[in-house]
Amino acid sequence: MPDTNEYACLKCGANWSRGEWTHGCPECGGGALTIPCPRCGGECGQLWRRAVLDSWDSQTAHWVGRCGPVFKKAQQESMPPES
Ligand SMILES: [Zn+2]
Ligand SMILES: [Zn+2]
Repeated sequence: MPDTNEYACLKCGANWSRGEWTHGCPECGGGALTIPCPRCGGECGQLWRRAVLDSWDSQTAHWVGRCGPVFKKAQQESMPPES
């Protein structure tokens, strides 16, 4: 893994930094480095960022973001993005 701010999926090799991702790959999880808010399916217009290290660690996509514009109170990081 080159240390040049280039992020890629360790599972399928898609280059997230170039916006690549693979359908059906759990580590890609349906997006590259950002995806439309997965909580509401993108209706709020927010982009969530990939937690790259967590994604590599767990081999499943991890996203960091908030559904907006009205933030749900006491939103927990440990909750799955989709419920
Ligand atoms: Zn992948
Ligand atoms: Zn949302």
